[in-house]
Amino acid sequence: MTRTISILGATGSIGASTLDLVRREADRWRVVALTANGNVAELARLAREFSAEVAVTADEACLPELREALGGSGIAAAGGAAALVEAAQRPADITIAAIVGCAGLAPTMAAIGQGGTIGLANKEALVSAGEVMTSAVARHGATLLPVDSEHNAIFQCLAGNDMRHVRSITLTASGGPFRDWTAQQLCAATPQQAVKHPNWDMGAKISVDSATMFNKGLELIEAHHLFPVGLDALRIIVHPQSIVHSMVEYRDGSTLAQLGPSDMRVPIASVLAWPRRMDTPCAPLDLARVGELTFHAPDEVRFPATRLARQAAEAGGAAPAVLNAANEIAVAAFLAGQIGFTRIAAHVEDVLSCYAPPAPACLADVVAVDAEARQRARLLIERAADGACLT
Ligand code: NAD
Ligand code: MG
Repeated sequence: MTRTISILGATGSIGASTLDLVRREADRWRVVALTANGNVAELARLAREFSAEVAVTADEACLPELREALGGSGIAAAGGAAALVEAAQRPADITIAAIVGCAGLAPTMAAIGQGGTIGLANKEALVSAGEVMTSAVARHGATLLPVDSEHNAIFQCLAGNDMRHVRSITLTASGGPFRDWTAQQLCAATPQQAVKHPNWDMGAKISVDSATMFNKGLELIEAHHLFPVGLDALRIIVHPQSIVHSMVEYRDGSTLAQLGPSDMRVPIASVLAWPRRMDTPCAPLDLARVGELTFHAPDEVRFPATRLARQAAEAGGAAPAVLNAANEIAVAAFLAGQIGFTRIAAHVEDVLSCYAPPAPACLADVVAVDAEARQRARLLIERAADGACLT
């Protein structure tokens, strides 16, 4: 039976891994919408290869180039924020939400609105929108399946069990490329060093988030919304080998873990085939070769991000959206060489301490909080660059 699929963020790392799996079972899939930001040559190439119905660039200025690249193909081309939302609204059995950052929020909400299955990679959207998103999922009868490897692992470990029997959930963290660096070394960390993850091949933003541990902080908030066990029952443990992707502990003392290679095609395949299974080309897990699986507690002094995220989750309301927006701006500033690595977390803390808007009640509220937090975050960075006092 043919299934329809849309991929929001088709040219990124998750988009490429998803399309790799779709390509291997091409006769089973019909591609509805593929979207990207500025990389329209790649977007057009993918749209042609997969005979998509529509290709959308979020950057309206790139639309003429996209139209030209798709000339004669019969594939519709569109551009801009409204076109992205319109594409996400097209009926599809499954939509992979793989845009990076809060830019993916409106299209993800639009996909939820059509009531299909959403494979959620875009954690920033759920972190920012929180209950606005989870209540929309319930209202529209949509199904949210986690692509993020940890949450996908937890989802698999929960299958067939009763949430009331869960004692705790533990997210594993690789610790990133700077896991063993001293505080002094961290001050001098460069963007090139930060984007080189030891285990995973990912986009630049999430790679920096792994280095700061904001990725795990965002994932803690993501887990809080996906698996309602209470924040106290959500834990983080550093596991440098990235083989155990997360664990669920039950009240009887059993702990279930999901293991696999560090290849995002494994969780993506579990989402694409759910509730069944599909073949993947991933290298089988060879535990004898891995040899050792080690675990240790995270260090929240060198890496304050998980502490900040837990505080934001405890505060609830708009705090996670503010944390996420401030982090996105700080990561961009770090990648652009404007601030040092350790300033990222310090900057997020500064923004959180000076901006505490009321809880958002709808998508427009979340978008407004995100925009205001970004503006404040940019201003703080500019002032710091001018040498002005930040208080
Ligand atoms: P990436 O940078 O490789 O790709 C991002 C995609 O989003 C691209 O297609 C890009 O064109 C598009 N995009 C960027 N800015 C946009 C904008 N303003 N408007 C519309 N589209 C835009 O990122 P990635 O590593 O694939 O990550 C995507 C999401 O998946 C992130 O939220 C990330 O946290 C999450 N995730 C990624 C991985 C991974 O292994 N890469 C693992 C778990 C979760
Ligand atoms: Mg993850």
